[in-house]
Amino acid sequence: ELEIAIKVVIVGNGGVGKSSMIQRYCKGIYTKDYKKTIGVDFLERMIDIDGEDVRIMLWDTAGQEEFDAITKAYYRGAQACVITFSTTDRNSFEAVKDWKKKVENECGEIPTVLVQNKIDLIEQSIVTFEETELLAKNLGVRLFQTSVKEDLNVSNVFRFLATKCHEI
Ligand code: GDP
Ligand code: MG
Repeated sequence: ELEIAIKVVIVGNGGVGKSSMIQRYCKGIYTKDYKKTIGVDFLERMIDIDGEDVRIMLWDTAGQEEFDAITKAYYRGAQACVITFSTTDRNSFEAVKDWKKKVENECGEIPTVLVQNKIDLIEQSIVTFEETELLAKNLGVRLFQTSVKEDLNVSNVFRFLATKCHEI
């Protein structure tokens, strides 16, 4: 039987919760001081989309994003993308457009979503919902609000992307 595998890249500024999201989704764990994994490129999880097994492969960076030093190998063959910013980090919100361009340059047009993570910290938010919605609209991507900490909405992100890839 044919197996479908989807490589998903997760981009966004350092500290927005990318590594935590991958750990949460693939291992079901959340640790407050998750140490940057050395030597682990990706984790995976199998899900069912319309009765078919789909392998979701989530590629992590080892913090290179903080030095704008993500390699081409990271993007190679990516079929879907998550652009993440943090509810409490204005710079990460401002950087979303640049991340979108970067991924487009490396991967072309692939199914992409915008994720506002750390929604559990909404009281310390540095961005209004209107601003966030407008950004998603201008980029032409679907918006998800997640809390990796509270396990809110995380699996919906990957289910949505897998379904999108499946349709192509
Ligand atoms: P990365 O640099 O984008 O990979 O971010 P990390 O996964 O290393 O997370 C940075 C920090 O944010 C860590 O201390 C995480 O525990 C914390 N974090 C991640 N997701 C959430 C969340 O949904 N809510 C809160 N409050 N903290 C989070
Ligand atoms: Mg990380």
